[in-house]
Amino acid sequence: MTIKTRFAPSPTGYLHVGGARTALYSWLIAQAQGGEFVLRIEDTDLERSTQEAIDAILEGMKWLGLEWTEGPHYQTKRFDRYKSLIQQLIEQDKAYRCYCTPEELDAMREEQMAKGEKPRYTGVWRDRTDYPEDQPYVIRFRNPQEGSVVFEDHVRGRIEVQNAELDDLIILRSDGSPTYNFCVVVDDWDMGITHVVRGEDHVNNTPRQINILKALDAPIPEYAHVSMILGDDGAKLSKRHGAVSVMQYRDEGYLPQALLNYLVRLGWSHGDQEIFSLQEMKELFKLDGINKAASAFNTEKLVWLNQHYIKSTPAAEVAEHLQWHLDDQKLDISNGPAIEAVITAQAERVKTLKELVEISRYYYEDFTEFDAKAAKKHLRPVAAEPLALVKDKLAAITDWSEASIQAAINETAEELEIGMGKVGMPLRVATTGSGNSPSLDITLNLIGQAKSVQRIGQALTFIEQREKS
Ligand code: GLU
Repeated sequence: MTIKTRFAPSPTGYLHVGGARTALYSWLIAQAQGGEFVLRIEDTDLERSTQEAIDAILEGMKWLGLEWTEGPHYQTKRFDRYKSLIQQLIEQDKAYRCYCTPEELDAMREEQMAKGEKPRYTGVWRDRTDYPEDQPYVIRFRNPQEGSVVFEDHVRGRIEVQNAELDDLIILRSDGSPTYNFCVVVDDWDMGITHVVRGEDHVNNTPRQINILKALDAPIPEYAHVSMILGDDGAKLSKRHGAVSVMQYRDEGYLPQALLNYLVRLGWSHGDQEIFSLQEMKELFKLDGINKAASAFNTEKLVWLNQHYIKSTPAAEVAEHLQWHLDDQKLDISNGPAIEAVITAQAERVKTLKELVEISRYYYEDFTEFDAKAAKKHLRPVAAEPLALVKDKLAAITDWSEASIQAAINETAEELEIGMGKVGMPLRVATTGSGNSPSLDITLNLIGQAKSVQRIGQALTFIEQREKS
């Protein structure tokens, strides 16, 4: 059997990290076995579905690299198919018209509540054929009344629900639109889905969906209902806990691989391994290994993974993801060192790509002001002499390289008989504007000879003016 899975979001908002996790799990099990992964847009709720949300979901999936092998299918394009199957069920007496008015349904519900019963449709129109003329009606599925529905969930274990608990579900609304539970069933069948991986919030729909599949003589797929993601306070993860949209993580400077690694571990484990390459995920991930307990989102761990991937991913690959941030922060890198070299120099110093751009401006842009605290401490009159000497030595270099830069700094300290820090720190503030940068040989090599010398000159002027004032 070839595995075929699907991700079936309703386009009513952005791609949520919870959705991304079920998409990842579905994608992984298909990938692992050379199976197929279908993307299906469940847009039957015409009022809440938007093109903007569809675009946001596709963008999120692409950014994560969760490529689908089929689709996207759109449910709104399949109404004819749903309706013809509903017609078939009516003809087979497996579905029927219900003419209950909203008032009648309300009265039914109130009566049941008053008796302390669970509100449910009583089946008043099950066997009636005295259809009133010109009255709106819905189509309900004739759920079996005897026996039970049993399925083996890959996460939650054996689930059994008595049919007596399930009322006759509306499958076609009075406006002629088919409902969620019916469309899902038809799609999973038509698209040959073998494994349904989705959120725990759908587990109560599954027995109803299985009954409809049986009525259609369709095969029953396997199911895995994944637990919710919680915030650090134990409540369901929502906006007030921070970012919940996948694209917001892109905007904040995370690498997709870090988020994928984080999401795969959120609710699944393989011993105590924390870092998983995509290849390892594909090899090791199993539906049966998913935890039943809800998992709490831990931003610190995600940050740790992001740092790991920024450091260990080839700079050229990081550069591709950095481009969005360069554009976002409007940093023009056309007049300066290769961005890959800056990434290599700075990777150890940042948690996110956003920070990486923030702290790398001085490689590409001149500045006229120094970080006030750093200047106060390091651009003092006593720094003028070492700065002037190192400036001359740097200006005289004929083979600008890390080694020749380091030699110029060393010679300056030796000639003046001062510690390296007394040359290094003023030089760092002079050339980068602040007291934080990678080692000076690397930094100056990247900034370039002319700019380094010119910036030291600027710092000397600053010291001079400071003395006067
Ligand atoms: N469209 C449903 C949702 O976004 C998912 C349905 C399913 O996976 O079966 O919640």
